[in-house]
Amino acid sequence: MAITPRNVYSFPTKAEGQKTDVKKIGAKDYNGFVKILGTLERIPCPYCGNDTLTMNKNDYWICSHCECPIYGPSLPENAQGGEAAAISNINSMIERGDYQSAVTEYDKLIKDHGTAAHWYRYGMLYVEYSNAEVSAIKYDRKGFMEENSEHREKAGALLSKAKLLLYKALRVCQNSFDQEVADPQTAFIYVMASTKLGDPRGIKKGLAILMNMKSDMLIEYGGMMLSVTLADHNNVILHADKILTQDLFSVNALYYMAWALFKKGKANDAMKILKGMSIFIHTPSMDGLVKEIEAQRLF
Ligand SMILES: [Zn+2]
Repeated sequence: MAITPRNVYSFPTKAEGQKTDVKKIGAKDYNGFVKILGTLERIPCPYCGNDTLTMNKNDYWICSHCECPIYGPSLPENAQGGEAAAISNINSMIERGDYQSAVTEYDKLIKDHGTAAHWYRYGMLYVEYSNAEVSAIKYDRKGFMEENSEHREKAGALLSKAKLLLYKALRVCQNSFDQEVADPQTAFIYVMASTKLGDPRGIKKGLAILMNMKSDMLIEYGGMMLSVTLADHNNVILHADKILTQDLFSVNALYYMAWALFKKGKANDAMKILKGMSIFIHTPSMDGLVKEIEAQRLF
């Protein structure tokens, strides 16, 4: 049986009683999702400082940029404390391409805020830094190839550092599992760090812990991560589909749906979703996927 997104999507009303239209959208009408994106609330992520979109501030949602789980009720109304200011400062360094200062600053921050989510984000910051070095490699460089090999070596070293930090995040999670004080966020970070390390066994372990914590959103997203890691594209679409129909809409589910559709040979559908999303949000993974699709079209 061919698995396609469900025929009808219905979206819930906003948590604060502010009415979002409950719309019924045909599965092929990806523009419908775009309209929904326009109704979501924009909130800076407390871990990476990027704008993230949410429909429900009363529960967990997932940052569209760093994929840290954010618990709405624990967010202060005006998150402009010392940590938020430091994160926003780090974010402007990244925007300027000054990754070296960004990692130096995050290193200071983590001394006071060493939660699993912070270690995970710190690791992912190194992944982004490494990717920036990779994109500095130019194949049309004439006579300056040594500059390329410098970038290549640096990218490799940064990626090794990223892995160490992701393992550190896993250890912080493990400590709270051992002390039986883990919350859903911690179990979810275990899933995400294992995903980035490409370790399905770690993902399953984190998922098993999450299962006892009754957070549908995090469990469904974790299941999607397992399917992504196992390259089970049909199941990625099924999980994304569920997330997009629950009352905890996650923008990232649209990205993963696009990714799975592309892997299934439906590049045009994938592009439609990504283009629609890009009106409201930009993430490195979206940009990467657009480039991958465009590169394939050249051949
Ligand atoms: Zn974030």
